[in-house]
This record gives sequence, C-alpha cells and structure tokens, in this order.
Amino acid sequence: LVVFDDVLIPWEHVFAYRDIRRVREQWSKTPAHLLGNVQAQTRLSTKLDFMVALAQAVAVMNGTAGLPPIQATLGELAAHALNVHSLLVAQEQNCRIDAQGVAWPGAAEVHACSTLQLTAYPSMVQAVREIAGGGLIQLPSSRADFQNELARSDLDRFVQSPGYDSVERVKLMKLAWDLVGSEFASRHQQYELFYAGAPHLVKARMYASYDFAPGEALLAAALDGYDLEGRRETRGT
Ligand SMILES: Cc1cc2nc3c(=O)[nH]c(=O)nc-3n(C[C@H](O)[C@H](O)[C@H](O)COP(=O)(O)OP(=O)(O)OC[C@H]3O[C@@H](n4cnc5c(N)ncnc54)[C@H](O)[C@@H]3O)c2cc1C
Repeated sequence: LVVFDDVLIPWEHVFAYRDIRRVREQWSKTPAHLLGNVQAQTRLSTKLDFMVALAQAVAVMNGTAGLPPIQATLGELAAHALNVHSLLVAQEQNCRIDAQGVAWPGAAEVHACSTLQLTAYPSMVQAVREIAGGGLIQLPSSRADFQNELARSDLDRFVQSPGYDSVERVKLMKLAWDLVGSEFASRHQQYELFYAGAPHLVKARMYASYDFAPGEALLAAALDGYDLEGRRETRGT
C-alpha cells in the first residue's frame, strides 16, 4: 500500500477531476481494464508453465511419474496451463482495432481467463501438493543444517531419492514448498483469487460478455425438432 499524502499533480497529467462518471468510464470506454488483466494473465501463463514443470520434476524425483494416477494429475495441470495460454492467443486473435488504432483484446476471452485464474489456480496448488506428498514437510529448517556435521550425515542418509542426493532433493522440495505451501505461496493464492476483482464480479463479467446466441440457436433448433408426437423430421416414415 502506497499513500500519497501531499502530492503536486500537474494539470496536464490529470485525466479526471471530481467527475465520477468519467472515472467509472475509464474501465468501460477504454481498454484499460482489459489490458490490465492481459498483462496479469501473461504473467499467470508463465507461472503455470513453471508450476507444471516443477510438479513433473518432483514426480520424477519421487519415482511416481510413471504411475497412471500421477500422470492423470500432471495431465490436468498441463490442461489448465494450456487453457490459460490458449485464451491469451484467442484474445489477440479476436481483438478489435478502434478509431484511435488501439487494439482491444477479445473481452469474453479475457474474462474467461480471469475466471480460470481464480478457479483453476487453487486446484492446481492442491494437485502439486498431492504429487509432492509428505516429503514437502520432511525438510531441514534451513541450509545451515547442511553445515552441521551430524545433521548433514542424517540428511545425506535419510533425505534423498534414488539418483538425487540430499542437497538436490532438498533444493527441489524447498522450491516446491515456496510455490505451494509457504506463507509466500498462500499470499499468491489470495493474489490470484482477487487480482481481477471479487470472484462473483469476475464471473458476472464472464456472463455479461459471453455470446449466448449460437448456443441458443442450437437449443431452439433441437426443441423445434420434436413435440408430443415424436421427432418432426421422421414423422410419417
Ligand atoms: C494483487 C492485486 C492487485 C489488484 N489490482 C487491482 C487494480 O489494479 N485495480 C482494481 O480495481 N482492483 C485491483 N485488485 C482487486 C481489488 O483490490 C479487490 O481485491 C477486489 O475489488 C475485491 O475487494 P476486497 O478485496 O475489498 O474484498 P471484498 O469486497 O470485501 O470481498 C470479500 C468477499 O466478499 C464477497 N462480496 C463482497 N461484496 C459482495 C456482494 N455485494 N455480494 C456477494 N458477495 C460479496 C466477495 O466475493 C469476496 O469473496 C487487485 C487485487 C489484488 C489481490
């Protein structure tokens, strides 16, 4: 939180002054809101790729990457990451250029991605925790433990995996803990949940921007196709 208590703002830098309508309209009459979310979603896409790679690395180290249930979980994580990435591509694909030459990203795609940001992220964190297992907790409290001869010999013996010595295992598991278990990770979860606004507002924006018309046409055609006498097109055959 930054508080500007006593600041000189030159008039040429003031866009709105005591004009609530104009302040509100900055979000609807300019692409500011959409673009603000696009940068956050670009960041999210990179973060999810990182998360999927980390989950895969932990599964390989734990010797579980070949198990079908673990592969299914990794596949689900990968699908979420790819969905976010694909929505970024779709926003660009479906952008429109306004009279000033400014590109407005596809609104429905932006809001769909914001909805994934708050719904998929917590379930991805949970999935990584499940893949990592109790090993996330069986870790030294700090790297200083490696400098203690007695603790080091126990770490080398008990905190390792086939093909990974204690330093390699602890290094990877500490990174996973930073991402999904630590206070920092918890802060990130709150961040993804509220970045685009309160969850009910994000979903309401999705509702308002989704084009229901194609689905409604299909539904009307299906309902038109039958009545109490059966299917209309096959009647009498
Ligand atoms: C890192 C980060 C950056 C952000 N950046 C920006 C930004 O640049 N610009 C911006 O505008 N916003 C930004 N936000 C979002 C904003 O700061 C708020 O988090 C958001 O508007 C929700 O408000 P709040 O946190 O006060 O929660 P509250 O409004 O107190 O909501 C708390 C809970 O109550 C529920 N709730 C609240 N009111 C109702 C209601 N009427 N009916 C039903 N349920 C309700 C909410 O769904 C939520 O679950 C950012 C958030 C984060 C975390």
